[in-house]
Amino acid sequence: MISAGLSKLDNDTIVAIATAPGRGGVGIIRLSGKDAKAIGERISGRSLKPRYAHFCQFSDHSKNIIDSGIALYFPGPNSFTGEDVVELQGHGGPVVLDLLVKAACAVGARPARAGEFSERAFLNDKIDLAQAEAIADLINSTTEQAARSASRSLQGAFSKEVDELVNAITRLRVYVEAAIDFPEEEIDFLADGKVAQELDALEQRLQSVLQQARHGSLLQEGMKLVIAGKPNAGKSSLLNALSGQDRAIVTAIEGTTRDVLHEHIQLDGMPLHIVDTAGLRDSSDEVEQEGIRRAWNEIATADRILLVVDSTSADVKLSIEQLWPEKEERLGPDTPVTVIHNKIDISGRKPGLHAQGNDVRVALSARSGAGMDALREHLKECMGYQVANENTFSARRRHITALQQAAEYLAAGQAQLLDAGAGELLAEDLRQCHNTLGTITGALSSDELLGEIFSSFCIGK
Ligand code: GDP
Repeated sequence: MISAGLSKLDNDTIVAIATAPGRGGVGIIRLSGKDAKAIGERISGRSLKPRYAHFCQFSDHSKNIIDSGIALYFPGPNSFTGEDVVELQGHGGPVVLDLLVKAACAVGARPARAGEFSERAFLNDKIDLAQAEAIADLINSTTEQAARSASRSLQGAFSKEVDELVNAITRLRVYVEAAIDFPEEEIDFLADGKVAQELDALEQRLQSVLQQARHGSLLQEGMKLVIAGKPNAGKSSLLNALSGQDRAIVTAIEGTTRDVLHEHIQLDGMPLHIVDTAGLRDSSDEVEQEGIRRAWNEIATADRILLVVDSTSADVKLSIEQLWPEKEERLGPDTPVTVIHNKIDISGRKPGLHAQGNDVRVALSARSGAGMDALREHLKECMGYQVANENTFSARRRHITALQQAAEYLAAGQAQLLDAGAGELLAEDLRQCHNTLGTITGALSSDELLGEIFSSFCIGK
């Protein structure tokens, strides 16, 4: 792997608590680095054999016994980080585990930074960047499907797709660059059609990986829905109906929902982050004004907006622009909106989805539940959600952006070839496409990107 510009590994031996904070039957500290074995032996008082469970007492450098438990030694390179790793498994109390970490630091280890174990595994080529990110995603998964897909990425399912794309691009680059470097061979790109064909095949493959990655990211990160609308239209009631809890306060007095409420729920394994906003109206009340300011910040980053309208009022006849004149100025035309005609138990309208071009409406009753299924189906459909299968892998927005950029370079290269027969420009676009794909697995990533990714991990990962 080419690790361009990477900070090299330091020689320190690092230590951290590997188990979750709090109390548990067992708690583990993990050491990694060249002195891990010696430090493990000092604390356990035993000579550590590879991959053998030693039952022993753990003591500090003054020979005070801290705990008893199991010491395990995994010599590098056959360990998680690729270095010598020692695990000390004691009792799961925060104070005991802190004492073990201090004992290790007193004899030469230093506390690990956030994500440093995974970072070392990456720098030692044990895993690539997409796999390292999958570790964090697996741990942070909020649904079973998200966990399964992260596990597949950790096994390398996503990296394999990216590597195959990279290999195909490498082959094509070799061919194109050879044609440029050795014009006497007279390889005619356009006449032999091979390059154009390969570019088409690559394009299709890239789009298919992009689609899979989008789905993986959706399972992992979910969709952010903002519930907006006039006071008393039924926004809080809709949030409660979707989440199945009385989370928001529902009252008949205007302006009750003064703050932005967040709710995380699952829709067939897809995480939904629902944000209920304060009644978006002008107000002289300072607290309410603050709620309104926050509401607009949330709306600006939404994947979709549910604009709730009271179907017993004349508002149902209005267009989205009339219902919500601020939309254009605050959001632009691209943020998708679904209009909810609520309270059909009173207005007597038929429940269900009515769509005409961009004007999508769902008639429902947040109170009786009529039409709620139509809304759930609509949400899954507009996010291109499919039930996860054995090919689903997890992905992040960062990966999707890289795949999109790679697709743009490929399209630009194709255009150069078809329009101008420009081999040199095609070669440059292919090089850029190659580099962009390299940032996904970390084959070509900057220090800043790596720092950003690993610092978002917890200590001990
Ligand atoms: P918000 O201000 O938009 O959050 O509105 P609320 O959810 O607090 O609802 C305002 C009032 O409308 C409350 O009295 C609710 O019980 C009532 N309401 C909300 N949804 C429905 C519905 O589907 N049918 C009926 N009949 N009343 C509803």
